Amino acid sequence: MDRWQNRVAVISGASSGIGAACARLLVAAGLQVVGLARRTDRLEQLRQSLPEEQRKRFHQHKCDVSQELQVDTAFEWIEKELGGIDVLINNAGIVLGGQLIDMPAKDINNILQTNLMGSIYCTKLAAGSMRRRQVAGHLIFVNSTAGVAGYKPDPADESLNAYTPSKFALTAVQEICRQELINQGSKIKTTSINPGWVATEIVPDETKAKLGEVILQADDVAQAVLYALSTPPHTQVEQITLRAVGEYF
Ligand code: NDP
Repeated sequence: MDRWQNRVAVISGASSGIGAACARLLVAAGLQVVGLARRTDRLEQLRQSLPEEQRKRFHQHKCDVSQELQVDTAFEWIEKELGGIDVLINNAGIVLGGQLIDMPAKDINNILQTNLMGSIYCTKLAAGSMRRRQVAGHLIFVNSTAGVAGYKPDPADESLNAYTPSKFALTAVQEICRQELINQGSKIKTTSINPGWVATEIVPDETKAKLGEVILQADDVAQAVLYALSTPPHTQVEQITLRAVGEYF
């Protein structure tokens, strides 16, 4: 991780779960971390919980990634305060349950705006910052097994029906970015991390109860992010899919 010392990593959705776990690991690994989220009280709680000598490397900015103007404002602030972006972890995401063919279009739109367009807004600005400064940075997408293997809707659990298309699209976004960057002669890396079920706030309690111990922890996913980042400049980890041992889907 030597080459990332004091480099700037932006993490969307750093206020809880996987994003917060990534923030802890990256700050501890010596990076300057900017956490984006809507709940600034939770970002502040995270900052306070860090060991004192690491706190100065955690920065926070309120940002709803589904709103392009808010993303523009946040990234302008990062450029001005910290000089640019070297690593982006597209992690912010939501789940809204229902049958895709019956649920309100505004709910589907909300999922797509957050999970897909939010990642695209952040990616465009982060890649722009990296290219302007000729930095071989890293774009990471926290995707899902639903985004690579699909999802078999369960009539008793419709939580992922509309979420799945947003994550499938993210798989395409990462692959297109990878190819575009190669065509531009860029050394920027792209990685998708595809977890199965993880014990975070996004997963309903009844699903957690059903899964029992067959569930990943946020830190397991953050360790995969750290691994992808820690590879040498010539190595690109394209996909990491991780499930808890025993997870069927
Ligand atoms: P959490 O609910 O704990 O975290 C979601 C994070 O996303 C929060 O920090 C939340 O912050 C942020 N967020 C949501 N909407 C927005 C928005 N509009 N603008 C900015 N931030 C937003 O769940 P996870 O940690 O599990 O989720 C992180 C990612 O992992 C998601 O993309 C999810 O799809 C993915 N994932 C999760 C799995 C799981 O089983 N938990 C499995 C596979 C993938 P705030 O509300 O403060 O804005």
